[in-house]
Amino acid sequence: MYDLLIIGGGPAASAAAVYAARKRLKTAIVAGEFGGQSTVSEDIQNWIGTPHIAGADLAKNLKAHVLEYAGDILTVKEGAWVTGITGEAGNFSVSMGSGEPFTARSILIASGSNRRKIEIAGADTFENKGLTYCASCDGPLFTGEDVIVIGGGNAAFETAAQLLAYCKSVTLLNRSAAFRADEITVAQTMKDPKFKAVTEIEMLDVYGGDFVEGMTIKHKASGEAEKLSAKGIFVEVGQIPNAGFAKSIVDQNEVGSIKIDPRTQQTSAAGIWAAGDVTDVLYHQNNIAAGDAVRALEDIYIWLHKNRP
Ligand SMILES: Cc1cc2nc3c(=O)[nH]c(=O)nc-3n(C[C@H](O)[C@H](O)[C@H](O)COP(=O)(O)OP(=O)(O)OC[C@H]3O[C@@H](n4cnc5c(N)ncnc54)[C@H](O)[C@@H]3O)c2cc1C
Repeated sequence: MYDLLIIGGGPAASAAAVYAARKRLKTAIVAGEFGGQSTVSEDIQNWIGTPHIAGADLAKNLKAHVLEYAGDILTVKEGAWVTGITGEAGNFSVSMGSGEPFTARSILIASGSNRRKIEIAGADTFENKGLTYCASCDGPLFTGEDVIVIGGGNAAFETAAQLLAYCKSVTLLNRSAAFRADEITVAQTMKDPKFKAVTEIEMLDVYGGDFVEGMTIKHKASGEAEKLSAKGIFVEVGQIPNAGFAKSIVDQNEVGSIKIDPRTQQTSAAGIWAAGDVTDVLYHQNNIAAGDAVRALEDIYIWLHKNRP
């Protein structure tokens, strides 16, 4: 029986594993893969303390830091995917596709999410060559350029607002006439003369040479196609949390993100915490995920000591 079972291998789970081992909690970490979503980035410039790091190197560093503590106190299971959780606080059973389930007194879910991708011609080809799913990460690379934001929710408008601070122009593309974003956010963004929203369109393709040069769209009303030049395309059409395996045990919001108390990271189920992109927090970054997991660990540590068998 482990004190703690950590699910994930990104910055959140890795930070949690290091803290758990240093607190001498008997811990197991089940990581599908180490590194997390930003592994695909060529140059991460905001991992604090490290001005530049390739995503692949960040993944190696996270894994190396966790392995530093592997041994009697920390069991590392890589390449396994959690499929279900049963039991109750003090006695959980965590199953994977195959092999014996792990039993643990407490659980931290840090299985992250995947960005919802757009499925149009050229989107895959130009991913990370001008088309990006992370404005906070890549936005400053497009200073002084014309850029496009795809989406109509709060994330799309907040991304547009962020880009307006340094881009030449921002064009937001939305398939329908109505936006899902809050009215006040829409109104504030619309005030900026560098901002334009184009609605009721179909997106036909992303075009370019070595890098993005623009997008072709079709106006639904007229049927006319139009080419929009842009150096950067920022996609904000939602996230898919990796939390399906926990559906029956913790409360989730309408898109499947795990609801947590942001003071402690506790979920609706006693003995289960969650941290990082799998939760319903508003902002998603490597540093936030790692910090949230550390907050969870502090709370788990106290809970384990109060609830000694
Ligand atoms: C393209 C891109 C670039 C980005 N660039 C930056 C950047 O430059 N700077 C920045 O701060 N943020 C960046 N982000 C955001 C950042 O990557 C995320 O906020 C961060 O990775 C979240 O960390 P996490 O540990 O919560 O989850 P994730 O990174 O999503 O990691 C989840 C982990 O859980 C594992 N896992 C999933 N399901 C299971 C399961 N069932 N069983 C076991 N393991 C499982 C996965 O293998 C993965 O290792 C970027 C995001 C994207 C998509």
